[in-house]
Amino acid sequence: MFADRAKIWIRSGKGGDGHCSFRREMYVANGGPDGGDGGKGGDLIFEVDEGLNTLVDFRHKRKFSAEDGQEGGKRRCHGKSGRDLVLKVPAGTVVKEAASGKVIADLSGDNRRQIVLKGGRGGLGNQHFATATMQVPKYAQPGRPAMELEVLLELKVIADVGLVGFPNVGKSTLLSRVTNAEPKIANYHFTTLNPNLGVVDLDGGKGFVMADIPGLIEGASEGVGLGHEFLRHIERTKMMIHVVDAAGTEGRDPIDDIYKINEELKAYNPEIAGRPQVIAANKIDLICFGDEDPVERLKKEFEPKGIRVFPISGVSGQGIRELLYYVADELQKLDKTPIVFKQEYFPEEELMYEELPYTVEIEDGIYVVEGPKIEKMLGYTNLDAEKGFAFFQRFLENTGILDDLEAAGIQDGDTVKMYGLQFEYLKHH
Ligand code: GDP
Ligand code: MG
Repeated sequence: MFADRAKIWIRSGKGGDGHCSFRREMYVANGGPDGGDGGKGGDLIFEVDEGLNTLVDFRHKRKFSAEDGQEGGKRRCHGKSGRDLVLKVPAGTVVKEAASGKVIADLSGDNRRQIVLKGGRGGLGNQHFATATMQVPKYAQPGRPAMELEVLLELKVIADVGLVGFPNVGKSTLLSRVTNAEPKIANYHFTTLNPNLGVVDLDGGKGFVMADIPGLIEGASEGVGLGHEFLRHIERTKMMIHVVDAAGTEGRDPIDDIYKINEELKAYNPEIAGRPQVIAANKIDLICFGDEDPVERLKKEFEPKGIRVFPISGVSGQGIRELLYYVADELQKLDKTPIVFKQEYFPEEELMYEELPYTVEIEDGIYVVEGPKIEKMLGYTNLDAEKGFAFFQRFLENTGILDDLEAAGIQDGDTVKMYGLQFEYLKHH
Protein backbone atom coordinates (compact mmCIF):
# COMPACT_ATOMS: atom_id res chain seq x y z
CA MET A 1 0.00 0.00 0.00
CA PHE A 2 0.98 3.57 -0.55
CA ALA A 3 3.06 4.85 2.34
CA ASP A 4 2.12 8.37 3.30
CA ARG A 5 2.42 8.00 7.05
CA ALA A 6 5.06 6.57 9.36
CA LYS A 7 5.96 6.66 13.01
CA ILE A 8 9.65 6.62 13.87
CA TRP A 9 12.10 7.34 16.68
CA ILE A 10 14.70 9.96 16.02
CA ARG A 11 17.72 10.90 18.10
CA SER A 12 20.46 13.46 17.79
CA GLY A 13 24.04 12.74 18.87
CA LYS A 14 25.20 13.26 22.43
CA GLY A 15 27.98 15.78 22.93
CA GLY A 16 31.33 14.21 23.79
CA ASP A 17 32.54 14.73 27.35
CA GLY A 18 35.38 17.07 28.07
CA HIS A 19 38.55 15.29 29.14
CA CYS A 20 40.40 15.63 32.39
CA SER A 21 44.16 15.11 32.17
CA PHE A 22 47.48 16.72 33.05
CA ARG A 23 50.63 17.25 31.07
CA ARG A 24 53.31 14.72 31.74
CA GLU A 25 56.75 15.98 31.08
CA MET A 26 60.04 14.64 32.02
CA TYR A 27 61.43 16.34 35.09
CA VAL A 28 58.06 17.99 35.76
CA ALA A 29 56.12 16.33 38.53
CA ASN A 30 52.76 17.90 37.90
CA GLY A 31 52.10 19.53 34.54
CA GLY A 32 49.17 21.82 33.85
CA PRO A 33 45.75 20.58 32.81
CA ASP A 34 45.57 19.52 29.15
CA GLY A 35 42.22 17.76 28.81
CA GLY A 36 40.63 18.49 25.43
CA ASP A 37 37.03 19.34 24.61
CA GLY A 38 34.44 16.81 23.59
CA GLY A 39 33.09 16.84 20.03
CA LYS A 40 29.62 18.06 19.16
CA GLY A 41 26.90 15.48 18.69
CA GLY A 42 25.44 15.16 15.18
CA ASP A 43 22.21 16.93 14.25
CA LEU A 44 19.12 15.06 13.11
CA ILE A 45 17.99 16.78 9.93
CA PHE A 46 15.07 16.38 7.57
CA GLU A 47 15.58 17.29 3.93
CA VAL A 48 13.36 17.31 0.86
CA ASP A 49 14.33 14.95 -1.93
CA GLU A 50 12.47 15.77 -5.13
CA GLY A 51 12.93 12.21 -6.33
CA LEU A 52 10.77 10.83 -3.54
CA ASN A 53 6.99 10.75 -3.37
CA THR A 54 6.28 8.27 -0.60
CA LEU A 55 7.45 7.63 2.94
CA VAL A 56 8.07 3.97 2.18
CA ASP A 57 11.69 4.23 3.35
CA PHE A 58 10.38 4.63 6.89
CA ARG A 59 8.20 1.55 6.82
CA HIS A 60 10.81 -0.99 7.82
CA LYS A 61 13.50 0.90 9.64
CA ARG A 62 12.06 2.67 12.65
CA LYS A 63 15.00 4.13 14.58
CA PHE A 64 17.30 6.81 13.34
CA SER A 65 20.18 8.30 15.23
CA ALA A 66 22.86 10.85 14.44
CA GLU A 67 26.34 10.05 15.73
CA ASP A 68 27.58 10.94 19.20
CA GLY A 69 30.48 13.32 19.61
CA GLN A 70 33.68 11.74 20.89
CA GLU A 71 35.28 12.47 24.20
CA GLY A 72 38.11 14.97 24.33
CA GLY A 73 41.61 13.54 24.73
CA LYS A 74 44.90 14.17 26.39
CA ARG A 75 47.18 16.91 25.14
CA ARG A 76 44.28 19.22 24.30
CA CYS A 77 42.97 16.80 21.71
CA HIS A 78 39.53 17.85 20.52
CA GLY A 79 37.04 14.97 20.32
CA LYS A 80 35.67 14.26 16.86
CA SER A 81 32.22 15.66 16.16
CA GLY A 82 29.46 13.15 15.51
CA ARG A 83 28.16 12.93 11.95
CA ASP A 84 24.77 14.51 11.22
CA LEU A 85 22.01 12.25 10.02
CA VAL A 86 19.99 13.60 7.10
CA LEU A 87 16.64 11.93 6.55
CA LYS A 88 15.33 12.41 3.01
CA VAL A 89 11.61 12.91 2.64
CA PRO A 90 9.23 13.88 -0.16
CA ALA A 91 8.17 17.52 -0.43
CA GLY A 92 5.05 18.10 1.60
CA THR A 93 6.10 15.93 4.54
CA VAL A 94 4.96 17.18 7.92
CA VAL A 95 6.88 16.04 11.02
CA LYS A 96 4.80 15.93 14.19
CA GLU A 97 5.56 15.05 17.79
CA ALA A 98 3.88 11.66 18.09
CA ALA A 99 2.21 12.03 21.48
CA SER A 100 0.70 15.49 21.04
CA GLY A 101 0.38 15.63 17.26
CA LYS A 102 1.97 19.08 17.32
CA VAL A 103 3.86 20.16 14.21
CA ILE A 104 7.66 20.32 14.43
CA ALA A 105 8.45 20.83 10.75
CA ASP A 106 6.65 21.23 7.45
CA LEU A 107 9.03 20.31 4.64
CA SER A 108 7.28 22.22 1.91
CA GLY A 109 7.58 25.50 0.05
CA ASP A 110 10.88 27.20 0.82
CA ASN A 111 11.60 24.94 3.75
CA ARG A 112 13.82 22.33 2.11
CA ARG A 113 15.88 21.40 5.13
CA GLN A 114 15.34 21.67 8.85
CA ILE A 115 17.37 20.60 11.85
CA VAL A 116 14.76 18.87 13.95
CA LEU A 117 16.95 17.67 16.82
CA LYS A 118 20.18 19.51 17.55
CA GLY A 119 23.18 17.48 18.59
CA GLY A 120 24.48 18.02 22.12
CA ARG A 121 27.32 20.47 22.63
CA GLY A 122 30.66 18.93 23.54
CA GLY A 123 31.89 19.47 27.10
CA LEU A 124 34.94 21.59 27.83
CA GLY A 125 38.11 19.82 28.86
CA ASN A 126 39.82 20.66 32.13
CA GLN A 127 42.39 22.80 30.29
CA HIS A 128 39.79 25.58 30.45
CA PHE A 129 39.37 25.47 34.17
CA ALA A 130 42.80 26.38 35.45
CA THR A 131 42.98 29.62 37.39
CA ALA A 132 45.57 31.33 39.58
CA THR A 133 44.15 29.69 42.65
CA MET A 134 43.21 26.37 41.10
CA GLN A 135 46.05 24.96 39.07
CA VAL A 136 44.98 21.34 39.06
CA PRO A 137 41.31 21.48 38.07
CA LYS A 138 39.85 18.00 38.23
CA TYR A 139 36.65 19.13 36.61
CA ALA A 140 35.81 18.64 32.96
CA GLN A 141 32.40 19.45 31.57
CA PRO A 142 30.19 16.57 30.49
CA GLY A 143 28.83 16.73 26.94
CA ARG A 144 25.24 17.85 26.55
CA PRO A 145 22.80 14.98 26.22
CA ALA A 146 21.26 13.73 23.01
CA MET A 147 17.64 14.50 22.23
CA GLU A 148 15.28 11.68 21.48
CA LEU A 149 11.74 11.85 20.22
CA GLU A 150 9.04 9.77 18.63
CA VAL A 151 7.66 11.53 15.59
CA LEU A 152 4.90 11.01 13.11
CA LEU A 153 5.64 11.71 9.47
CA GLU A 154 2.69 12.61 7.29
CA LEU A 155 2.79 13.36 3.63
CA LYS A 156 0.33 16.05 2.68
CA VAL A 157 0.53 16.61 -1.02
CA ILE A 158 0.91 20.12 -2.29
CA ALA A 159 -1.73 20.85 -4.87
CA ASP A 160 -3.95 23.81 -5.75
CA VAL A 161 -6.95 21.69 -6.57
CA GLY A 162 -8.18 18.38 -5.25
CA LEU A 163 -10.48 15.97 -7.05
CA VAL A 164 -12.92 14.44 -4.62
CA GLY A 165 -15.69 11.96 -5.14
CA PHE A 166 -16.81 8.39 -4.67
CA PRO A 167 -14.74 5.61 -6.18
CA ASN A 168 -15.24 5.00 -9.90
CA VAL A 169 -16.73 8.38 -10.73
CA GLY A 170 -13.81 9.12 -13.05
CA LYS A 171 -11.28 11.13 -11.02
CA SER A 172 -8.23 9.26 -12.28
CA THR A 173 -9.47 9.41 -15.85
CA LEU A 174 -9.89 13.17 -15.61
CA LEU A 175 -6.47 13.65 -14.03
CA SER A 176 -4.72 11.61 -16.71
CA ARG A 177 -6.54 13.46 -19.45
CA VAL A 178 -5.64 16.96 -18.30
CA THR A 179 -2.22 16.48 -16.72
CA ASN A 180 1.04 14.69 -17.21
CA ALA A 181 0.13 12.21 -14.47
CA GLU A 182 -0.37 8.56 -15.25
CA PRO A 183 -2.74 7.24 -12.64
CA LYS A 184 -4.19 3.75 -12.63
CA ILE A 185 -7.66 3.67 -14.08
CA ALA A 186 -9.95 0.79 -13.37
CA ASN A 187 -13.53 0.00 -12.98
CA TYR A 188 -13.59 -1.20 -9.44
CA HIS A 189 -13.52 0.42 -6.04
CA PHE A 190 -10.35 1.27 -4.14
CA THR A 191 -8.00 0.82 -7.03
CA THR A 192 -6.35 4.15 -6.66
CA LEU A 193 -4.61 4.18 -3.35
CA ASN A 194 -2.10 6.91 -3.92
CA PRO A 195 -2.92 10.52 -4.37
CA ASN A 196 -1.66 11.22 -7.84
CA LEU A 197 -0.50 14.66 -8.77
CA GLY A 198 -0.33 16.37 -12.10
CA VAL A 199 0.29 19.79 -13.57
CA VAL A 200 -2.49 21.26 -15.69
CA ASP A 201 -0.90 23.43 -18.37
CA LEU A 202 -3.08 26.25 -19.62
CA ASP A 203 -2.09 29.18 -21.84
CA GLY A 204 -1.18 32.46 -20.22
CA GLY A 205 0.60 31.03 -17.20
CA LYS A 206 -2.62 29.87 -15.64
CA GLY A 207 -1.39 26.36 -14.93
CA PHE A 208 -2.08 24.67 -11.62
CA VAL A 209 -1.41 21.47 -9.74
CA MET A 210 -4.22 18.98 -9.48
CA ALA A 211 -4.40 16.05 -7.08
CA ASP A 212 -6.62 13.03 -7.18
CA ILE A 213 -7.76 12.42 -3.61
CA PRO A 214 -8.68 8.76 -3.76
CA GLY A 215 -11.04 6.60 -1.85
CA LEU A 216 -13.43 9.07 -0.29
CA ILE A 217 -16.41 7.11 0.86
CA GLU A 218 -19.13 7.43 3.41
CA GLY A 219 -17.78 7.16 6.91
CA ALA A 220 -14.29 8.15 5.87
CA SER A 221 -13.99 10.88 8.47
CA GLU A 222 -14.70 8.35 11.22
CA GLY A 223 -11.98 6.12 9.90
CA VAL A 224 -14.37 3.66 8.27
CA GLY A 225 -12.77 2.25 5.18
CA LEU A 226 -9.69 3.58 3.56
CA GLY A 227 -10.92 7.05 2.83
CA HIS A 228 -9.73 8.45 6.09
CA GLU A 229 -6.15 7.71 5.18
CA PHE A 230 -6.40 10.13 2.30
CA LEU A 231 -8.34 13.01 3.71
CA ARG A 232 -5.13 14.57 4.96
CA HIS A 233 -4.06 15.14 1.40
CA ILE A 234 -6.82 17.61 0.93
CA GLU A 235 -5.57 19.87 3.68
CA ARG A 236 -3.40 21.96 1.41
CA THR A 237 -5.70 22.22 -1.60
CA LYS A 238 -7.36 25.60 -2.08
CA MET A 239 -10.24 24.45 -4.16
CA MET A 240 -12.12 21.21 -4.73
CA ILE A 241 -13.57 19.65 -7.81
CA HIS A 242 -16.41 17.33 -6.91
CA VAL A 243 -16.46 14.63 -9.51
CA VAL A 244 -19.79 12.83 -9.79
CA ASP A 245 -21.10 10.18 -12.08
CA ALA A 246 -23.92 12.21 -13.61
CA ALA A 247 -25.13 9.15 -15.52
CA GLY A 248 -25.59 7.31 -12.24
CA THR A 249 -24.11 4.14 -13.72
CA GLU A 250 -23.71 2.61 -10.27
CA GLY A 251 -27.25 3.43 -9.21
CA ARG A 252 -26.41 6.29 -6.86
CA ASP A 253 -27.90 9.75 -7.09
CA PRO A 254 -25.21 12.36 -7.95
CA ILE A 255 -26.86 15.02 -5.76
CA ASP A 256 -26.73 12.64 -2.85
CA ASP A 257 -23.09 11.89 -3.55
CA ILE A 258 -22.12 15.53 -3.23
CA TYR A 259 -23.93 15.97 0.06
CA LYS A 260 -22.32 12.84 1.44
CA ILE A 261 -18.83 13.85 0.42
CA ASN A 262 -19.36 17.27 1.91
CA GLU A 263 -20.51 15.73 5.17
CA GLU A 264 -17.30 13.72 5.24
CA LEU A 265 -15.21 16.80 4.64
CA LYS A 266 -17.06 18.77 7.28
CA ALA A 267 -16.61 16.03 9.86
CA TYR A 268 -12.91 15.90 9.06
CA ASN A 269 -12.33 19.63 9.09
CA PRO A 270 -15.08 22.25 8.69
CA GLU A 271 -12.61 24.80 7.38
CA ILE A 272 -11.79 22.56 4.42
CA ALA A 273 -15.46 21.97 3.67
CA GLY A 274 -15.85 25.74 3.43
CA ARG A 275 -13.26 26.15 0.68
CA PRO A 276 -14.45 26.92 -2.87
CA GLN A 277 -15.94 24.01 -4.79
CA VAL A 278 -17.00 23.25 -8.31
CA ILE A 279 -18.90 20.25 -9.66
CA ALA A 280 -17.72 18.17 -12.59
CA ALA A 281 -20.81 16.27 -13.78
CA ASN A 282 -18.89 13.45 -15.42
CA LYS A 283 -19.75 10.63 -17.83
CA ILE A 284 -22.24 12.75 -19.76
CA ASP A 285 -21.53 10.53 -22.76
CA LEU A 286 -23.43 7.80 -20.90
CA ILE A 287 -26.51 9.77 -19.97
CA CYS A 288 -29.59 8.31 -21.51
CA PHE A 289 -32.42 10.75 -21.49
CA GLY A 290 -35.64 9.56 -20.09
CA ASP A 291 -36.38 11.45 -16.94
CA GLU A 292 -35.05 14.87 -16.07
CA ASP A 293 -31.57 15.73 -17.33
CA PRO A 294 -29.25 15.01 -14.33
CA VAL A 295 -27.02 17.94 -15.22
CA GLU A 296 -30.01 20.30 -14.98
CA ARG A 297 -30.96 18.77 -11.66
CA LEU A 298 -27.44 19.33 -10.33
CA LYS A 299 -27.47 22.92 -11.56
CA LYS A 300 -30.81 23.63 -9.96
CA GLU A 301 -29.63 22.21 -6.68
CA PHE A 302 -26.14 23.70 -6.40
CA GLU A 303 -25.79 26.80 -8.56
CA PRO A 304 -28.06 28.88 -6.27
CA LYS A 305 -25.59 27.91 -3.51
CA GLY A 306 -22.72 29.38 -5.53
CA ILE A 307 -21.31 26.05 -6.72
CA ARG A 308 -20.97 25.95 -10.50
CA VAL A 309 -21.74 22.74 -12.40
CA PHE A 310 -19.79 21.72 -15.52
CA PRO A 311 -20.98 18.78 -17.60
CA ILE A 312 -17.94 16.83 -18.81
CA SER A 313 -16.78 13.53 -20.16
CA GLY A 314 -13.40 12.31 -19.05
CA VAL A 315 -13.49 9.85 -21.93
CA SER A 316 -14.53 12.04 -24.87
CA GLY A 317 -13.02 15.23 -23.46
CA GLN A 318 -16.21 17.17 -23.84
CA GLY A 319 -16.62 20.17 -21.50
CA ILE A 320 -13.23 19.79 -19.85
CA ARG A 321 -11.74 22.99 -21.25
CA GLU A 322 -14.51 25.14 -19.78
CA LEU A 323 -14.11 23.46 -16.41
CA LEU A 324 -10.33 24.00 -16.31
CA TYR A 325 -10.47 27.66 -17.32
CA TYR A 326 -13.11 28.33 -14.71
CA VAL A 327 -10.96 26.66 -12.04
CA ALA A 328 -7.86 28.60 -13.13
CA ASP A 329 -9.75 31.89 -12.94
CA GLU A 330 -11.12 31.10 -9.50
CA LEU A 331 -7.64 30.17 -8.28
CA GLN A 332 -6.33 33.54 -9.44
CA LYS A 333 -8.81 35.20 -7.12
CA LEU A 334 -7.62 33.20 -4.13
CA ASP A 335 -4.71 33.90 -1.85
CA LYS A 336 -1.63 32.51 -3.54
CA THR A 337 0.48 31.78 -0.50
CA PRO A 338 0.85 28.05 -0.08
CA ILE A 339 -0.76 26.40 2.91
CA VAL A 340 2.11 25.66 5.28
CA PHE A 341 1.78 24.28 8.78
CA LYS A 342 3.37 26.34 11.51
CA GLN A 343 5.78 24.93 14.05
CA GLU A 344 4.01 24.28 17.34
CA TYR A 345 6.51 22.04 19.09
CA PHE A 346 10.10 23.09 19.76
CA PRO A 347 12.12 20.03 20.78
CA GLU A 348 14.93 21.97 22.40
CA GLU A 349 12.65 23.77 24.81
CA GLU A 350 10.34 20.89 25.53
CA LEU A 351 13.05 18.28 25.99
CA MET A 352 15.36 20.45 28.11
CA TYR A 353 12.56 21.12 30.47
CA GLU A 354 11.60 17.48 30.64
CA GLU A 355 15.18 16.53 31.15
CA LEU A 356 15.47 18.24 34.51
CA PRO A 357 12.77 17.22 36.90
CA TYR A 358 13.57 18.47 40.35
CA THR A 359 11.80 19.54 43.53
CA VAL A 360 12.38 22.41 45.93
CA GLU A 361 11.25 21.83 49.49
CA ILE A 362 11.78 23.59 52.80
CA GLU A 363 12.77 21.31 55.68
CA ASP A 364 13.57 22.89 59.05
CA GLY A 365 14.36 26.21 57.41
CA ILE A 366 16.73 24.59 54.91
CA TYR A 367 15.93 24.72 51.19
CA VAL A 368 16.31 21.22 49.82
CA VAL A 369 16.66 20.73 46.05
CA GLU A 370 16.51 17.20 44.69
CA GLY A 371 16.28 15.44 41.35
CA PRO A 372 18.19 12.67 39.59
CA LYS A 373 19.78 14.95 37.02
CA ILE A 374 20.94 17.37 39.67
CA GLU A 375 22.58 14.53 41.49
CA LYS A 376 24.32 13.43 38.32
CA MET A 377 25.40 16.95 37.49
CA LEU A 378 26.86 17.44 40.95
CA GLY A 379 28.75 14.21 40.55
CA TYR A 380 30.42 15.61 37.45
CA THR A 381 31.20 19.05 38.77
CA ASN A 382 34.21 19.98 40.77
CA LEU A 383 32.96 22.91 42.74
CA ASP A 384 36.41 23.66 44.10
CA ALA A 385 37.44 24.83 40.68
CA GLU A 386 36.46 28.40 40.14
CA LYS A 387 35.07 27.72 36.68
CA GLY A 388 33.31 24.63 37.91
CA PHE A 389 31.56 26.80 40.42
CA ALA A 390 30.64 29.38 37.80
CA PHE A 391 29.25 26.56 35.70
CA PHE A 392 27.23 25.38 38.68
CA GLN A 393 25.80 28.85 39.17
CA ARG A 394 24.78 29.11 35.55
CA PHE A 395 23.21 25.69 35.86
CA LEU A 396 21.10 26.90 38.78
CA GLU A 397 20.09 29.92 36.78
CA ASN A 398 19.35 28.26 33.44
CA THR A 399 17.36 25.42 34.87
CA GLY A 400 15.10 27.78 36.79
CA ILE A 401 16.17 26.44 40.18
CA LEU A 402 17.13 29.94 41.35
CA ASP A 403 13.73 31.29 40.38
CA ASP A 404 12.06 28.51 42.27
CA LEU A 405 14.13 29.18 45.36
CA GLU A 406 13.17 32.83 45.15
CA ALA A 407 9.56 31.88 44.72
CA ALA A 408 9.81 29.67 47.78
CA GLY A 409 10.86 32.80 49.70
CA ILE A 410 14.60 32.29 50.10
CA GLN A 411 16.62 35.15 51.59
CA ASP A 412 20.32 36.00 51.56
CA GLY A 413 22.04 33.86 54.15
CA ASP A 414 19.56 30.97 54.05
CA THR A 415 20.94 27.49 53.56
CA VAL A 416 20.46 25.44 50.41
CA LYS A 417 21.02 21.71 50.42
CA MET A 418 21.50 19.51 47.36
CA TYR A 419 22.44 15.96 48.21
CA GLY A 420 25.86 16.11 49.88
CA LEU A 421 26.27 19.76 49.10
CA GLN A 422 25.24 22.55 51.43
CA PHE A 423 25.80 26.24 50.83
CA GLU A 424 24.67 29.67 51.85
CA TYR A 425 22.41 31.47 49.44
CA LEU A 426 23.67 34.79 48.14
CA LYS A 427 21.74 36.64 45.52
CA HIS A 428 24.17 37.80 42.85
CA HIS A 429 23.61 41.22 41.43
P1 GDP B 1 -11.95 6.92 -10.00
O1 GDP B 1 -12.11 5.75 -9.09
O2 GDP B 1 -12.85 8.04 -9.61
O3 GDP B 1 -10.52 7.34 -10.15
O4 GDP B 1 -12.48 6.45 -11.45
P2 GDP B 1 -11.64 6.03 -12.73
O5 GDP B 1 -11.05 7.21 -13.40
O6 GDP B 1 -10.72 4.92 -12.37
O7 GDP B 1 -12.82 5.52 -13.65
C1 GDP B 1 -13.66 4.45 -13.33
C2 GDP B 1 -14.28 3.92 -14.60
O8 GDP B 1 -15.11 4.87 -15.21
C3 GDP B 1 -13.23 3.52 -15.64
O9 GDP B 1 -13.60 2.35 -16.27
C4 GDP B 1 -13.28 4.68 -16.62
O10 GDP B 1 -12.90 4.30 -17.90
C5 GDP B 1 -14.72 5.08 -16.55
N1 GDP B 1 -14.92 6.49 -16.89
C6 GDP B 1 -14.33 7.57 -16.32
N2 GDP B 1 -14.80 8.71 -16.87
C7 GDP B 1 -15.71 8.35 -17.83
C8 GDP B 1 -16.52 9.10 -18.75
O11 GDP B 1 -16.52 10.34 -18.78
N3 GDP B 1 -17.30 8.36 -19.57
C9 GDP B 1 -17.33 7.02 -19.55
N4 GDP B 1 -18.09 6.42 -20.40
N5 GDP B 1 -16.61 6.29 -18.71
C10 GDP B 1 -15.77 6.95 -17.84
MG1 MG C 1 -8.97 6.62 -9.18
